[in-house]
Amino acid sequence: MLTNCRRGAFSVLSILALSNVLNAQPASELAAASPDKLSVHWEELTASDFREGIRRSQGTCLLPFGILEKHGPHLPLGTDLLDVRYAALHAAEEEYAVVFPEYYFGQIAEARHEPGTMSYSRNLQLALLQETTDEMARNGCKKVLIVNGHGGNEHLLPYFAQSQLDKPHDYVVYVFDERTPQHGGPAKKTTIDMHAGESETSKMMISRPDLVHPDRATNESGADQARQKLPEDVYTGIWWYTRFPFHYSGDGSAATKELCEYQMKWWIDSVVTAIRAVKADDVSLKLQNEFYEKSTHPLDTQP
Ligand SMILES: [Zn+2]
Repeated sequence: MLTNCRRGAFSVLSILALSNVLNAQPASELAAASPDKLSVHWEELTASDFREGIRRSQGTCLLPFGILEKHGPHLPLGTDLLDVRYAALHAAEEEYAVVFPEYYFGQIAEARHEPGTMSYSRNLQLALLQETTDEMARNGCKKVLIVNGHGGNEHLLPYFAQSQLDKPHDYVVYVFDERTPQHGGPAKKTTIDMHAGESETSKMMISRPDLVHPDRATNESGADQARQKLPEDVYTGIWWYTRFPFHYSGDGSAATKELCEYQMKWWIDSVVTAIRAVKADDVSLKLQNEFYEKSTHPLDTQP
C-alpha cells in the first residue's frame, strides 16, 4: 500500500525551521549579519554574496544532475531532477556549498521511445558538462561535486571525470553517485527496484508528494521481462529495453512512509559527508597538477 509521506517531509522541514528559530537574530542585526543567511542557491545570490558564498564554501560547489524521462505510470518526468535537488539543497544547508541551478542534460537514449524524454546527443552532453564545470571553476568553484540523481549517467560521469586528465584544469571534478542505501532501514517488499519502484517512489513522496499518483502505480508492469539471453558480462545498449520496455522497473505501490523517511535522510546525510570530505581534500588538486606536469614529458617519469 502506497501511503503519503508528507508528514515525513514536515518532520525534516520542522527540524530546519526549529534550527532557524534557534539561530534567529533581532531584525536590526539581520542586515549587518546578512552573510549569515546566505542562500545555497547560485541563482539567488547577488554578485557580492556569491563572492562570500565561494569563500564560505571553500570553493566547493554542487552540480546536482537530473534528467527528464518517464518514471513509470505514477511519477513525474522530472523525478530525478526534483529528488537530487531536494537532497543536494538540504545537504548544502547543513554543510554550506553553492548549488548550481537545474541541470538535466545527461544520458537517456534508452527512453527516447517514451513521451517527454529530453535526450541530447553524446557530444553535446560532454561539451555542455565541460563548459559548465569550466565556467563554475572560472567563478571560483575549484571543487565541483557532481551529485548524480539519474542511473543512466552512471558511466557518463566517471568517464567525464577521467577525461579531466586529458589536459590541465585548475579544479577537481568529484562525482557522488549513490542514492539508495545498500543496507539498513525498513525491510523492502520488492526485489526488483531499479526505476520508479519502491525506493524512487518513496523519495518522491518526500521531495514532491503532490506529484506522486499512487492510484496509477500498478497501471503498468515494472516486471523484468528477461528477453535477452546473454552472459552477464556481455554488455549491449539495448539491455534495459529488453528487460524493462515500459521504462518502469519495480513496483511503486510498495513505497511506504517509513522507507521514504529513511531513504531521503540517508541520501541527504551521505551528500553532507561527501561535501565535508571534498572540502577536506587537499591532495587531489596537488597531485592532479603534478600529473599534468609529468604528462608533458613522460620519458622522464621514473618508477
Ligand atoms: Zn529516476
